[in-house]
Amino acid sequence: MAYDFDLFVIGAGSGGVRAARFAAGFGARVAVAESRYLGGTCVNVGCVPKKLLVYGAHFAEDFEHAKGFGWSLDSPEFDWPTLIANKDREIQRLNGIYRKLLLDSGVTLLEGHARLTGPHTIEINGKQYSAERILIATGGWPQVPDVPGREHAITSNEAFHLKVLPKRIVVVGGGYIAVEFASIFNGLGAQTLQAYRGDLFLRGFDGSVRKHLHEELLKRGVEVRFNCDIERIDKQADGSLKLTLKDGGTLETDCVFYATGRRPMLDNLGLESVDVQLDKEGYIQVDEHYQTSEPSILALGDVIGGVQLTPVALAEGMAIARRLFQPEHYRPVDYNHIPTAVFSLPNIGTVGLTEEQAVEQGHSIQVFESRFRPMKLTLTDDQERTFMKLVVDSSTDRVLGCHMVGPDAGEIVQSLAIALKAGATKRVFDDTMGVHPTAAEEFVTMRSPVSR
Ligand code: FAD
Ligand code: NDP
Repeated sequence: MAYDFDLFVIGAGSGGVRAARFAAGFGARVAVAESRYLGGTCVNVGCVPKKLLVYGAHFAEDFEHAKGFGWSLDSPEFDWPTLIANKDREIQRLNGIYRKLLLDSGVTLLEGHARLTGPHTIEINGKQYSAERILIATGGWPQVPDVPGREHAITSNEAFHLKVLPKRIVVVGGGYIAVEFASIFNGLGAQTLQAYRGDLFLRGFDGSVRKHLHEELLKRGVEVRFNCDIERIDKQADGSLKLTLKDGGTLETDCVFYATGRRPMLDNLGLESVDVQLDKEGYIQVDEHYQTSEPSILALGDVIGGVQLTPVALAEGMAIARRLFQPEHYRPVDYNHIPTAVFSLPNIGTVGLTEEQAVEQGHSIQVFESRFRPMKLTLTDDQERTFMKLVVDSSTDRVLGCHMVGPDAGEIVQSLAIALKAGATKRVFDDTMGVHPTAAEEFVTMRSPVSR
């Protein structure tokens, strides 16, 4: 049967655009459907605008630090609408770049909501298209628990478009988004409280990293409450919000921001017309080739519920395009040693195993740690401390994990990921010359293991 397209991609986000562009580049006839915004979550309501807001928030401490270096500044003022308008302009520019990238690579762009109508057919804007293969790359969506009054809460989607900066904000959750936005709002001047339901936030990160970031956030004035769970949200006559906690306490705030995880975006996707199975958490189930239980349909990125990071979706998109249309260059995605950063203030950067994971996996380990006051702060009153840690297998000497909390941790961990991927031992770290004077050189000068 002759199909309209060789590949029809649903979703022009990180993974969908990568798969579509490369498949078209390899000679396939490709269409991509997008219902909302080109570039997907990362470009519009994720990585990019978030990082711009983090930069904005960082100025608060830059102005303070500048005083120690002889600069005097009249009290600096911050204007939220200016930051948001400038951020929106940049996102519009990026949307245009994505459009051009797709069109220049020969992809047919269809703007509208796509619905599957069969294993090889899709409906969009009232028209039917057929394709030999369909790739679901529809990403995720914020998930808010079913608490009474949840309609008064915002999520990351709305946070990027608030008309005014709230005077007081409660950020609910203890994952990436909650920690990053607590830092953003605090840095920009909102009175910020982060409420997490467990004993210590950032579950899954290295224990020392979680503790260190907690201490640093407290120093910067974020009120962090652990074992704090919200029972209901009530809007009061003056427009403020009253949060009733499960322990009977209450909080009053102007804005409550839920960052309590994301669900796969499958709304009105027409999955009932095909045999695509979901896993027990509701994500699309795929095999090692991103193949669903329906032979003509593949899926990638956040909608399959793996590691929900842009570079991972990009790598999956590339692997799919190569396997289908340039198999001689196919390489499976390597999910080992995925570096990641949490862009809190200060940043976390991490790659490889945490101390807890290394022990759990049966490694006998040595741990090296360093805590120090960054040189840049020595002329200031800022008492922030940087934290670095190496987890090393004591029998093979291989470095299993590198962890950092401090300025530019995200930048520093990228190069450490190459070393770990290459199988570097602690000896290789020790034999590497430092770059002096930097914070990063500490990773090659940690000599004595800490005793546990
Ligand atoms: P998405 O990028 O979400 O793209 C899916 C696209 O499909 C969307 O454009 C959507 O509109 C479209 N779509 C959905 N349904 C349909 C339909 N039926 N028809 C047509 N189109 C449809 N990752 C990092 O690596 N670093 C970060 O710093 C980072 N920060 C983040 C900050 C926030 C606030 C959030 C929410 C996420 C962040 N992420 C970050 C995660 C990253 O954004 C995602 O992992 C990545 O975008 C996933 O890509 P994807 O292609 O799977 O889906
Ligand atoms: P996460 O899964 O990282 O964190 C969700 C948080 O919400 C956890 O602390 C979880 O607690 C808590 N939670 C879940 N359900 C409830 C509930 N019912 N009540 C109270 N708390 C609850 O999700 P995020 O939304 O922060 O981010 C989604 C994903 O996006 C991340 O996992 C990451 O992959 C990606 N991302 C990446 C970024 C980056 O690379 N810098 C930045 C932002 C997002 P518990 O731990 O107890 O389950």
